[in-house]
Formats: sequence, C-alpha cells, structure tokens
Amino acid sequence: MTKKQNLLKKKLKNKFYLSLFFVIILNIIIFPNFSCSENLSAEEYSRVEFVLGTVCQIRLLTALPKKKVDKVFDDCFAELVKLDAIFNANTEHSDYGIGELDRTEISELELVNQNAGKEPVPVSKELFELLKITIDIAEKTDGAFNPAIGALVKCWDIGFSGKSVPPKKEILSTLAISNFHDIELKETKSSSGKIEYTVFLKKTGMRLDLGGVAKGYAADKLSSIIRRFGIENALIDIGGNVFALGKNSKGQDWSIGLKNPNIGEQGIAGVLHVSGLSVVTSGNYERYFKEDGKIYHHILDCKTGYPVETRLNAVSVISDKSLYADLLSTTCFVLGEEKSRNLIVELRKKTGSEISVLFFYKDNSVRLISEDKLSLEVKSPFAF
Ligand code: ADP
Ligand code: MG
Repeated sequence: MTKKQNLLKKKLKNKFYLSLFFVIILNIIIFPNFSCSENLSAEEYSRVEFVLGTVCQIRLLTALPKKKVDKVFDDCFAELVKLDAIFNANTEHSDYGIGELDRTEISELELVNQNAGKEPVPVSKELFELLKITIDIAEKTDGAFNPAIGALVKCWDIGFSGKSVPPKKEILSTLAISNFHDIELKETKSSSGKIEYTVFLKKTGMRLDLGGVAKGYAADKLSSIIRRFGIENALIDIGGNVFALGKNSKGQDWSIGLKNPNIGEQGIAGVLHVSGLSVVTSGNYERYFKEDGKIYHHILDCKTGYPVETRLNAVSVISDKSLYADLLSTTCFVLGEEKSRNLIVELRKKTGSEISVLFFYKDNSVRLISEDKLSLEVKSPFAF
C-alpha cells in the first residue's frame, strides 16, 4: 500500500461516523438478517467505504476462504475508486463537497468540462460508453434526462452550498449551455489498431453531469466482479442504489425497504422482495432546500431550468440492470407516469431487460408499470 493510500485509509477511519450519518439519509432500507446461514459453509462478509461521493456497502455470502473474500472486496473497491476518477462531477475545487473524503483530485469528466469550447479530450471507454447511452435516452425523452445538465446543476448547487433560488438570468444563461446536442463524441482507430475515444463540449462553460446514472453503472460493474469470483449471493449498496444478487443468508429473496418519500415523515412506504434485481429510487426528499415555504429539490427540468414541478414525490425502478434502474428513476421522475410508459415499453423491447417502475404520488397513491412478477408490499397510508 502506498503512503497516499495509507493516509486515505486513516482519513476514512476517522470519518466513519460521518459515513454512518450518510447511511441514515439514504433512500432505501435493507432489512438486516442476523439468522444463521442456511448453507452452513457460507458466511456473510461486509465492507463499507466512502467512494463515488457516497457510502458504499458490499455484503457477500460465500464459502470462499477469508483471503479470497478480501480480494473480492479489494477488487470491487478498486473499481469504485477507478470509476470515481472518471465520473466525479465535483473535483473542480479541492475544497468542494465532502473535502478530504473525496479521493479524486481531478476527474476525467472534469477535464472534459474544463476544455469545453476549447478542444476534444481523450477519454476512457467507460465515460464514452455511458455518454452514448445517456445521449440516446436524452434523444428519446427530448432531454428529460440530460447528461449536459452540469452547468445548471452547479448553478443551483442543491445538496452542496445552494440554499436559495438563483437569479433567473443566471438560470437562463446556464440553460443555454446545457444542450446535449452540443456534446460531440468521436471514436477513431489509431494506426496500431487501438480504438481512441474523445469528447468535445462545443460551448464554453458547458458541463457534463452523470450523477443521475453513475452509481447504477458502477453497481453493474461490481455485480460482474462478484459473479466472476463465483459468488452468487450478495448485496451491493452504492448510496441507496441497491443490487440484490441471489438470496440472503436465510436462502430467501432480499428484502428492500422503500423509504417513506413524504418530507418530514419516517418509516417505509413499501417492501420489495427481490433476487437478481436492482432497486433505485429518485425523489424530491433526498436533497433539497426550502424557500418561502416551497421545496426546491435536485432533479431539474431542462425545459424550465427549475426543479421538476410534479405530483410525484418519488419514483423507484426495479431492473436486472442497475444502470437502467438508476438512469430511469431520474428520467421517469422528470417525465411523469404517462410519458414514461412508452419509454419503458421501448427499452424493454430493445434491451431485453426487465424494467418495472413504481410512482409515489404526493396524495400517497402508488402506481406500478410492470410486466414482471414482483413481490411488493405497500404500507399504509400508501395504496394502489
Ligand atoms: P441521487 O442524487 O440519489 O443519485 P438521482 O439518481 O435521481 O439521485 O440523480 C440526481 C442527480 O442527477 C442530480 O444531483 C444531478 O447531478 C443530476 N440531474 C438532475 N436533474 C437531471 C436531469 N434532468 N437529467 C440528468 N441528470 C440530472
Ligand atoms: Mg438516478
């Protein structure tokens, strides 16, 4: 371990209680299962670290020796650190966000942002791939999900220093440089046959932001690593983006609680029993501020430049791909139920993925778009 890594480890230890604080604000609750393992040779292992700007927990159920299990954890967290260095949207100031807990000095995404209006930047396959997917969704949804929303996100800065509504002039000028059509992706084959990827943002001041999808993308990468080691039963939780693999220690489906999305209320709105599925929620109750009695939350509408005005409090997406669960929870929150329907049908057909969507309305009614068999309990006062 290098000196830098050691220092980081120390810092992370010191910040463990801060991490615990973050655990309680996440939007899902995973029910603990302390019973003895059904499969006597399998043991449960867990590791928690602060990466990707959030608390990440991995639980593994396996009969592999402890040394091998440590290797699985090491590989998983190394992957998360690598993805943080690509996708982190908050590395433009060293004192930004969680400060010393942030691992990445300057991310690849930030390099692209700093070269907006100047020149194309060579990027990793990961950034290129995720931009391609999100631009495709942006095109299909007329920008409801917009990967070029970064300047507007910074203008509001909700969840960080943003505590009041920015001047309208500022909102409109950042909107003008938040157009996903101004992202230019290029894929070229070098003379040696290597594929090179570049991204160019055409407008000065323009910024990418993949905060609405990066955690889901990361959860899929972790599930591949875990499965590669032959582990079938595990739970990945990246800041509330959950991926439940196989079964829990009782040999049953994992129980995922969906937090009550009414601001100021505690408890859960429902429980999903899942296996091989990811569950991700986007809502107005996660990051927001109040001004003149009005809630301003962190999911923004690129048609207006303001937080999405909706009858919804939250949207949960259940999918066998965490990428879609994360991407679509944000997208469907912006689109609303009716416009989401066609998109879901189209994506299910195109990708072959299972996708179900739960809409939680402000009047406590719940609606579900699903073609799959879901084991779901909705708790009073929430009702279909
Ligand atoms: P979480 O904050 O839990 O990851 P989401 O997955 O819904 O919640 O992502 C919200 C984040 O996505 C915001 O903090 C912002 O960075 C980004 N974002 C906000 N509005 C949009 C939008 N319309 N399109 C794409 N990304 C958005
Ligand atoms: Mg999302």
